[in-house]
Amino acid sequence: MNKKDQEFLKKKLLLEKTELEEELSSVGQRNPAVAGGWEATSKGIEVDAADENEVADKFEEYEENAGILKRLEDQLIEVKAALERIETGNYGICETCQKPIEKERLEANPSARISLKHLH
Ligand SMILES: [Zn+2]
Repeated sequence: MNKKDQEFLKKKLLLEKTELEEELSSVGQRNPAVAGGWEATSKGIEVDAADENEVADKFEEYEENAGILKRLEDQLIEVKAALERIETGNYGICETCQKPIEKERLEANPSARISLKHLH
């Protein structure tokens, strides 16, 4: 892969990282103490326990946020790993066969770790 292509994909990855972090902050908050660095929130879940229905709603909201959060977090981990591979010069190399990953595949999914052919 040439430097220009890699720069282009790096920009895409950085943009994706920013977007994922924005989405994460809408369903959770940063917590360096937990794996992945994010935890789900539900505004007001800890207060106002008088109304049982409200507590149930809040809990449901929390569960839902936790599910979304996990998915976003996984994506963010992949994006960060790809950016790291750019820094170390291992970007775009298939982890399975050590050959370059198809350019089209990286354009569609810049954080891809393996070539398309292994997915079938
Ligand atoms: Zn491969």
